Amino acid sequence: MHLVIIGNGITGVTAAITARRLSPEARITLLGAESAHHYSRPALMYLYLGHLRYPDVKPYEDWFWPENRLELVHAEATSVDTAARSVQLATGQLLAYDCLLLATGSVVRTAGWPGQQLHGVQGFYGLPDLESMSRATHGIRHAVVVGGGLIGVELAEMLHSRGIRVTWLVREQRYWQSVLPPEESALLAAHILRNGIDFRLATELSEVLGDAQGRVRAVVTSTGQELPAEWVGLAIGVQPNLALARAAGLETDRGILVNEVLATSAPGVYAAGDCAQHRQPAPGEAAVEQLWYTGRMQGETVAHTLCGQPTPYRRGHWFNSAKFFQLEYQTYGRVPAQPEADIASFCWQHPSGKLLRINFRQSDNVVTGMNVLGLRQRQDTWERWLREKAPVGTVLAQLAAANFDAEFSRQHEPAIRREFSRQFPAIILASPRRKGLFGAQ
Ligand SMILES: Cc1cc2nc3c(=O)[nH]c(=O)nc-3n(C[C@H](O)[C@H](O)[C@H](O)COP(=O)(O)OP(=O)(O)OC[C@H]3O[C@@H](n4cnc5c(N)ncnc54)[C@H](O)[C@@H]3O)c2cc1C
Repeated sequence: MHLVIIGNGITGVTAAITARRLSPEARITLLGAESAHHYSRPALMYLYLGHLRYPDVKPYEDWFWPENRLELVHAEATSVDTAARSVQLATGQLLAYDCLLLATGSVVRTAGWPGQQLHGVQGFYGLPDLESMSRATHGIRHAVVVGGGLIGVELAEMLHSRGIRVTWLVREQRYWQSVLPPEESALLAAHILRNGIDFRLATELSEVLGDAQGRVRAVVTSTGQELPAEWVGLAIGVQPNLALARAAGLETDRGILVNEVLATSAPGVYAAGDCAQHRQPAPGEAAVEQLWYTGRMQGETVAHTLCGQPTPYRRGHWFNSAKFFQLEYQTYGRVPAQPEADIASFCWQHPSGKLLRINFRQSDNVVTGMNVLGLRQRQDTWERWLREKAPVGTVLAQLAAANFDAEFSRQHEPAIRREFSRQFPAIILASPRRKGLFGAQ
C-alpha cells in the first residue's frame, strides 16, 4: 500500500505517524510545499518575538523521518488524477498512490481592498509570511492590523514587542463578538487598550495608500480617517485551501466535503484538518474546524480508516485556548456569544481582570460549558465534568480540582461561590470540602 499525504502540517504529520504505527509495512510519502520539515504553526509568533528559534518549533528531530520510514518530499503537488490515482509534483515527478490524504490546510482570506497588493501589505499564515513580515517591519514606526480574530491579536502583540505603534481595526461593535459573550469582549478590549494598542472597534479598512515606490504609506478607514502605516497585516480570517481538490473535480463547498470517516467524493481520496468540511456535523458542531487540536484528532482518525480500520470522526467536547497579551483564555464545552434557550450563564469577574463563566441547563443544572480569562483550568477535569454531566453545584464545590494555580483557589473560590449564590440563590451548593461524585482526582 502506498499512502500519499499532501500537507505536512499537524493533520498530515499526525496521519503519517499514526499510519506508520498501524501499518508497519506501508509505504508512506508526506509532501510539503512550505517547509522541508513539519513545524508548529501556532508557535510562529514566538520566532518573531525572539522567544524561540526555528529548531525549537520543529516537534521532531530530522532523523525521526527516515528512522520511521516516512518519505518526506519538499515540493508542491500541482494536480491530482483521481482516475489514474497519481499526484503530479512541481518538480516533474509523478507519484502513484493507493490512498491519498489531502491535508492542505487553509489560505489567508482577503477582501479585495484597493491597494492590498502594495509592498508591505500581507496576511500571516506560514514561514514565508513570517520572513516577509520580519523584513518589512524592521525599523518601522507605524503599522496597522485589520481583523479582530486570534491572528489579529498575535500580530498586534508581535509588532508592539518591537516598539512599533499599532493601530488595530476591528469591524465589529465589540471584540470577537461572534464568539465571546459581552463581558469577555469588554474585558479583552480594555486589556488590549491597556497594553498600548490603538484599538478601534466598529472601524473597517477602506483603502491602502502607497508611495511612488509601490510601498504602503497609509490606510484610509471607513470613518474617513487617514492613518500612517508602513506595514499592514490582514487578519480577517482563513479559508480552506481547495485549489488541488477543485482542480481534481472533488466535491467542495466551503471546504472539501467529507463523510464521517473523512472520505471525499473520489474513491481512495480522503481529506482532513483545516481543508475539510463535514457533510453532516453532529448537532452543535462546526462543519469546518480550523484548529490545531482538531487537525491532530482528524489526522489520527483518518489514519485508522486509511489502514483498514474504518473509524468515524468524533470530536468530543469543544476546547480552545489562546493568549491575549499574556492574558490566558480557555473555553470548554458550549459557551456561545448569545444565550441559548434553557441555558443559564453564571459570570464572575475580579477587578484585576479575571473572569470565570459557567453555563448550565436551567432544567437540570447540568453544566454545558465554561470560559476563563486570566485563570488556568485543567482540561481533563472539565472534560470529565462535561462528559459526566456534572451539576453546577458540584462543579462549584469542587472547583479546586480544575485549577492549575493554587493561588487562584485560595484567593477566588470562596468569592466565586458567594457570587454564584447571589446570582442563583435557589441553587444549593455542596460543601467545598466534601468529595462529591465528580470531585475525586
Ligand atoms: C499564526 C497562526 C496561529 C495559530 N494559532 C493557533 C492556536 O494557538 N491554537 C489552535 O488551535 N490553532 C491555531 N492556529 C490554527 C492551526 O495552526 C491550524 O488549524 C492547523 O495548523 C491546521 O493544520 P493542517 O495540518 O490541517 O493545515 P496546515 O497547518 O495549514 O498545513 C497544511 C500544509 O499543506 C501544505 N500544502 C498545501 N497545498 C499543498 C500542495 N499543493 N502541495 C504540497 N503541500 C501543500 C501547506 O504548505 C501547509 O504547510 C493558528 C494558525 C495560524 C496561522
